[in-house]
This record gives sequence, structure tokens and C-alpha cells, in this order.
Amino acid sequence: MFVREIAAPVSDLKGAGPTVAARLARLGVFSGADLLLLAPRDYEDRTARRLLSEFGSGVVNCRVTVVEHDWFGYGRMRTLKVWVEDENGTRAALVCFNRSFLERSYPVGAVLKLYGRFEYRFSELQSSSFDADPIADPDGAADAPDGVRPVYPLTEGLGQATVRKLAGRALSRWGIVDDEIPPSIRERRGLLRKADALRSLHAPLAPSDAAAARRTLAYEELFYLQVMIARRAAARRDVERPRSAPPDGLARALKERLSFELTPDQESAIAEIVADMSGPWPMARLLQGDVGSGKTLVAFFSALYAIAGGGQAALMAPTELLARQHADTAARLLEPLGVRLAYLSGNVADAARRPLLAALARGDVDLAVGTHALFSDDVAFKDLRLVVVDEQQRFGVLQRLAMGAKGRKPDMLMMTATPIPRTLALTAYGDLSVSTIKTMPAGRLPIITHLAKDGNEAKVYEFVRRELAAGRRAYFVYPLVDRSDKLALKDAEAMFARLSGDVFPEFRGGLIHARLPEETKRATMADFAAGRLSFVVATSVVEVGVDVPEATCMVIEHAERFGLAALHQLRGRVGRSSLQSYCFLVWSDRQGEGSASLSEDGKRRVLAMKATTDGFEIAEEDLRIRGPGEITGTTQAGALRLSFADPIRDADLLEAASIDAVGLLKSDPGLVGQEGSIVRAVIERASPFSERTAATG
Ligand code: ADP
Ligand code: MG
Repeated sequence: MFVREIAAPVSDLKGAGPTVAARLARLGVFSGADLLLLAPRDYEDRTARRLLSEFGSGVVNCRVTVVEHDWFGYGRMRTLKVWVEDENGTRAALVCFNRSFLERSYPVGAVLKLYGRFEYRFSELQSSSFDADPIADPDGAADAPDGVRPVYPLTEGLGQATVRKLAGRALSRWGIVDDEIPPSIRERRGLLRKADALRSLHAPLAPSDAAAARRTLAYEELFYLQVMIARRAAARRDVERPRSAPPDGLARALKERLSFELTPDQESAIAEIVADMSGPWPMARLLQGDVGSGKTLVAFFSALYAIAGGGQAALMAPTELLARQHADTAARLLEPLGVRLAYLSGNVADAARRPLLAALARGDVDLAVGTHALFSDDVAFKDLRLVVVDEQQRFGVLQRLAMGAKGRKPDMLMMTATPIPRTLALTAYGDLSVSTIKTMPAGRLPIITHLAKDGNEAKVYEFVRRELAAGRRAYFVYPLVDRSDKLALKDAEAMFARLSGDVFPEFRGGLIHARLPEETKRATMADFAAGRLSFVVATSVVEVGVDVPEATCMVIEHAERFGLAALHQLRGRVGRSSLQSYCFLVWSDRQGEGSASLSEDGKRRVLAMKATTDGFEIAEEDLRIRGPGEITGTTQAGALRLSFADPIRDADLLEAASIDAVGLLKSDPGLVGQEGSIVRAVIERASPFSERTAATG
């Protein structure tokens, strides 16, 4: 039996009655399998002896003799102090807050096995958090080895001792389980057998045992993940679709309409995409390019290729504002070429929606631009050949899969300005090929970033005034829409009143935030793009995609409140032409009630923004600040959750697992079609695999 198949409830164990079982449930532990796979969060190493005099270098771990009892405090505060002495004669006090009963457990003369952290307080060596077990027969045989004790995650009412005891019982009851990783892989990667891994996880003899167990279990998780990804990629190739290259008249016509040349990276991305799209199986490609690198045009050229071949294309954006902007750009660039456009969002009213859906289904629309509404159930395409997802990091993995389901396996192009670290690329995006735009369009100047402490914003406003007077435009971004009672933060509405009334009475401004009607937002953006408004005051709704080349100033107030990715995206709203652009990050450590002081992380983010404009560097710093945990959350794939593996820390294992999984599927293509438990499928077919690799290798 595999460990995951142990369905018996933990309550089958002695000592796991209804109360304990309910508390275990809060840790996600219901079955024997759950308990066996409960990952300790740490280990206490009790193999290394450390005397009281060595308290400064770590946890004290030695035998001591009780020499005296002492009391301090009065009444309910009366506290027991147990004085002990080790073999060198060093004395220390065990302070037993609320544990007067220990007077009887630790009588004078008793020998204790002591484990705890000590420090000098009130000129004596003492500890108030310690473990001390009386030794019944101090002169008997040598102590049984103490080993390494797992430290489990706990929940209220559930103590370490209880979980340890139950994990031990689970091991003896269910711990003999079958191996899962094919033996050849296990040997090549130096992994433990499953049963040994479980034993070392819960009852290691040395810290290195626990580490080896964790490594094995982590590898295993990553291996299944990689098998799933490899199967998905292989399954996609399971389609017949002979395609001939369409005439390239449309692409040539678009190039002629542009007032600039494509960058070499745009050209090569388009070439890679076109090669995929004329290939024998559907494309799944990620286009990464920093903000402002010109991804939209790459999407348009790809769409033209699908359309020239007689099919339809869809371009989806995460916000209505951005979808609208793409539709407007498409209307300007593509409609004159004869491309028939449609715009679809959740806000398109029923009356307009119906004829639109009919046109899509008839094939009277070549390119549909919109939000995720494009992929609602009632939307049908006549012949959808290409789906482009802009700012794909905004969409979940599931949405991504749903999009692929429309049409008969359309080509998929995901675009992102948030570079994906290599390790993550192997997990969540392991089945995608990648195109990267590194070069910015010619003539772009790096954005100059200034930090300003709140209180000095008048200087910032003066600077912006000069830019506005020269005909440039500016964004002002705030973390809140309107006044919050709790937080003393500036908000967009109040600042709009102040900026347009007091600060810039000579210029016209607009206000944009999520609570305004779509039509209002759209009209304001259109006025801003056309230069009828000199500045907009906004929340982070303008974060992604918005493109107004004449905007040269981005002022972000309370910058410490924004995430690094958001700051980078916001800054990317300027620097989109050959004009010199500026980003002002106004930070504040003024705080409202109920909120912590300026966080260290907030400071780090603002400083990182000042230090670099490179999206890849910013993404890495973001990863360092946020830690991998949050990212790991995005690597959940189907039913597989990563509880031992961390794709960042275990990058080497991930790489190995990826190689092994691809190798496995290559040598045994039958696995691709397997339904149901991939674990079972892999294992049942493991032996032929190992024979085959043995024979070939
Ligand atoms: P992003 O990659 O952030 O989506 P966009 O596609 O919005 O960037 O492009 C940013 C701006 O750069 C747009 O105004 C676009 O017209 C312009 N642009 C795109 N490609 C080029 C190019 N090769 N040369 C000059 N400007 C370009
Ligand atoms: Mg974009």
C-alpha cells in the first residue's frame, strides 16, 4: 500500500479520541496518511551533550542533580525555583512559573535529564523553558540515546508531546509502505525508500537522517508535479492539424502603418510564435518582456497570422481599462487593414451582447478583445485559432486551462511583464516555451527615480508643474480610494480635490478608481491620452498595461504601502517614448491607529525601486523580500500540494525531477494517456521503465 492510500482515520490510534482528533483536523490531519506526511517544522537535536557552563553556545543538554528548592514571590505569584548542578559543579536555577507541582517531581537528590536554553538573569544562570525528565536509575546502564526530536506544527490545545506520541504510533501501525519512486531513479538520485523516509522524518537518529528524509519527500512531490506537467505538454501534442502558412500581406501592411521599426527582440518573438503556430501542434508560449517593451504589437502580429489563415483570435486583458485600451489600439492599427473587431466585457449590456456573440459564432469577427468575459460559457467562436492572454500573472492557473478549452485546442500566447524566475518557470509554467524581449524600443531613456519623504511633496509638485507646463502629463497614485477612519493615509478622492483645486489650478485633472463606472473611467483615460487632461489621480487601477506615451511623471504617494511588483508596473506607465520620464516615490512613516510602523519591507521595496529599473532584478528582490512561501502557493497543481518541497530552495531537486519525469514519459509514452492517480500510474509502470533504462543506459 502507498502511504497516500492509508485512509484509516487517525482516531483509530490509541490516544486520539474525538477531542484530539478534532484538533488534529485543524492541522489538516484526518487520516493515517495525513499524520505520516505531517511535516515537522523543525528538529531538536538532543544527541549533542552541552554542559551548563556552555549555555552560551546553544541549548544545554546534560544530566544534572537537584540540590535545593527555593521560592520567591508571594500569594498567587509564589514561584518555585529548583537549583541543579551538573557534573562540573556548575549551578543553575530552573524557574517553574505556575508549576509548583514540580516540587514533587524534582525532589532534592534526583538526577534529571535536562534540555533547555539558559541565560544570566539577576546574576544567576537560569531557565524558565526547559525539559527535565527524572532518571529512575542513574547508576544503571548508559542513557538510552535521546536522538533527534521532531517539532511539529501545533494548534490550540494540542501539545508537542501528544503529536510526537501519535506520530510514533502511526509509524508502528502504518509505517510499512510501498515505494513510489521507480528504483532506478531512487538510486540515481540517492533517495531513501519511502518507509525509511517516513521513519527518518518522525524518528531520526541524527539530524542528517531528517534532512535526507525531507529531501526524499520533497523530490517525490516535485517528481509527481513534473510528471503531470510533462503529461500535459505531451497530451497537447496529441493533435493533428495540418496547417499551411497563410499569406503575409496583413503583417506587411501593419508594418507599413507603424511610425517606427520593430525591435530585434520583437521580430524574433514574432518569428518564434509564427513558427509555433504553423507547427503540427498547438502553441503554448510565454512572452516575457519588461513594462513598455512593446508586447502588444507582438500580440497583434500573431493575431494577424491566425486571421490571415482564415481563423479567429482573442486577446484577453485582466482589467476593463486595459482591454478597452487594447481595443482602441486595435481599432487604430488593425481595422484599416480590414480586420473585423469586437469588444466584449462583463459590462457589455445584453442587447449589444447578443448580436456580438452571434457574429463571433458565425465567424464575422476576426479579433475579439476583452476581459475574461471572452471565455464565459455562452461565448462560442467559429474557428478560434489563437488566444492571447495579456498580463497573464493576473489570471489563475485554472482560468488559463479554461481558455485552452475554447475552440479546438487554439494556440496560446501568454504575455507577462513580471519575469518568472527559472525555478518557478519549471513548475507552474513547465509546459510552456518562452520568448523574451530584452531590448527596449530605440530612443528610450531610463526613468529617473526620486525618493521623497512625506512632507517634501511640495517640491515634487513643483517639479511636476514644470513638466505639465511643457505639455507633458502626470499620474498621481494613492493606496486608497477614499478616507479611511483607521489609516491616516492620503486617498485618491481627497488628493484629487487638493491637486486640482489648490496645487495645479491652472491644469485640468481627472480621477480614476475602481468604484467609478466603467464609462467614466474610460472617458477620463481617453481625455488623458488625448491631452485634454494634464494629470490623473488614481489608485492602482492604472497599474497594468495603461499606455500614454506623453506621460512623463509618475508620483506614487505612500509608496511604502505598495508591493514591489506593483511599484514596478506603476513606474512602467511612464518612460514609454523618447521623452525623459520621472518616478517620484513619496514615502511616509506616519501611521494611523491600528497599523504598525513603517515596515522594514516597505523600506526595502522603496530602496530597491531606486536602485534598479530592471524588471528581472526587481522580481528577484521581490522573491527575497516575500520569501518563497507565497510563490509556492501558486505552484499548486491540481491535487498535488507541495508540503515538503520548496521550488526555490530545492531548485536542484526540481531540475532533477524535471529531467527524470521527461525521461520517464519518453521511455513510456503510454503514461501520457493514463487517467486517474498519476502516482499509481507511475508506480504500476515503474518496472518496465527501469528495465528499459537499464537496457539502454
Ligand atoms: P508592454 O510591453 O508594456 O505591453 P506596450 O505594448 O504597451 O508595452 O508598448 C509600449 C509603447 O511602446 C507603446 O506606446 C507602443 O506603441 C510603443 N512601441 C512598441 N514597439 C515599439 C518600437 N519597436 N519602437 C518604438 N515604440 C514602440
Ligand atoms: Mg502591456
